[in-house]
Amino acid sequence: MGRAFVYVILGGGVGAGYAALEFVKKGVSHGELCIISDEPVAPYERPALSKGFLLPEAPARLPSFHTCVGANEERLTPKWYKENGIELVLGTGVKSADVKRKTLLTTTGETISYKILIVATGARALKLEEFGVSGSDAQNVCYLRNIADANRLVNAVQSSPGGNAVVIGGGYIGMECAASLVINKINVTMVFPEAHCMARLFTPKIASYYEEYYKSRGVNFVKGTVLSSFDFDSDGKVTAVNLRDGRKISVDMVVVGIGIRPNTGLFEGQLTLEKGGIKVNGKLQSSNSSVYAIGDVAAFPVKAFGETRRLEHVDSARQSARYVVAAIMEPGKTEEFDYLPFFYSRVFTLSWQFYGDNIGEVVYFGDFSGSTFGAYWVNKGHLVGAFLEGGTKEEYEAVAKATRFRPAIEDLTELERQGLTFAVTV
Ligand code: FAD
Ligand code: NDP
Repeated sequence: MGRAFVYVILGGGVGAGYAALEFVKKGVSHGELCIISDEPVAPYERPALSKGFLLPEAPARLPSFHTCVGANEERLTPKWYKENGIELVLGTGVKSADVKRKTLLTTTGETISYKILIVATGARALKLEEFGVSGSDAQNVCYLRNIADANRLVNAVQSSPGGNAVVIGGGYIGMECAASLVINKINVTMVFPEAHCMARLFTPKIASYYEEYYKSRGVNFVKGTVLSSFDFDSDGKVTAVNLRDGRKISVDMVVVGIGIRPNTGLFEGQLTLEKGGIKVNGKLQSSNSSVYAIGDVAAFPVKAFGETRRLEHVDSARQSARYVVAAIMEPGKTEEFDYLPFFYSRVFTLSWQFYGDNIGEVVYFGDFSGSTFGAYWVNKGHLVGAFLEGGTKEEYEAVAKATRFRPAIEDLTELERQGLTFAVTV
């Protein structure tokens, strides 16, 4: 049993949804495109899962956040795929791929062949077991990567009114879930190994602002240690977490956000891998010219940095998806992918954006005791990165533009004096 398509997108997440819209805009014919996803629902805006989905009042639920509403574009429901002649194969995993034969074998036993494959398999959450701790399967231990995880998290919250949660990990999931739990009136303790939250992006000064804000909302921080084991009751529910520093914290629920691994397994030994992802060139084409990769799973050349990076953020998934369709359907007209890294987060009433790279010297600006502040990163005499909390739309656009432009910076003191005005006037 088998079917053949011109284009197949493997994975049905953010990248797949944005690529589908771009294929239609570029005039793909009915029957040419197939999307295969092991999730049971059409592509959706994954960032909603740690934000609107977890709200106690009027939470976001599908179909409201199917792609591509996150970029203020059309909302692609299953009906849209049907009307546009796109085969959406849901709830179906791909268990093996053969890039020489250009075939995929699904969990239902079907062989799907392609002329061009776009790998958009995203990533999986790292499990505690990979750090030597068991208990991930307990009903009140939650991860957050997909709708099933999000539903489980909502159930755990609803089963623990006014209760205590430990959030393991001080990265994106940890910070966003901790905020959502507080909004749900759960008492939160965050536990992570580093000296401050968001260690890979925030400086100690930036982190301190958010940690103080979180403390003002009742969050406790236990830093510089990790989980060593759980205590369980007779039903297998976790009742306490034991930390390596000897502390024990009683819990009603646990949320784990300790990083991800890109889903590259199907292609190991078949495609060149780098930085944990599928290595692609400036056209997002892998070491096999019929296979492209986008989103979390792709390690692509970031022109501005002159090196290959893998980015785990939604804007990168959206932009690489749009780009790859142009590169495939209009190769003669399409220059190499030129992407400026962009990350953001929203927690409580706070909201920040970051553009570029966080290397070099840091120059702060704004009011760290107020609501609008930021930082520039200056490397080898050029502005390479910018962070802004509490900006207006125009101010965010200005820091994005300034970072893309990479202006020469001769005097750091003068940059500090000008602060946000510098970006606005570049
Ligand atoms: P995904 O969206 O993960 O999609 C991959 C898809 O492939 C999934 O549907 C998966 O089930 C499927 N798949 C994988 N393997 C197979 C297989 N073998 N067979 C079939 N299907 C398969 N980024 C931000 O910049 N800002 C945010 O605020 C933000 N919030 C986030 C909140 C949460 C809770 C999470 C988990 C992530 C968040 N991100 C955010 C990151 C962002 O969502 C990802 O970078 C983005 O989803 C990556 O898109 P993708 O298409 O590469 O992968
Ligand atoms: P992150 O990589 O952001 O953070 C993981 C955190 O867990 C780090 O602080 C890490 O420390 C810490 N950690 C690692 N191992 C342990 C351990 N054994 N015990 C305790 N802490 C540990 O990953 P997340 O899980 O937070 O996020 C998953 C994915 O979702 C990422 O791709 C992220 O980009 C994405 N996401 C993005 C959002 C956004 O952009 N706004 C929002 C939500 C998710 P260390 O650095 O030392 O490894």
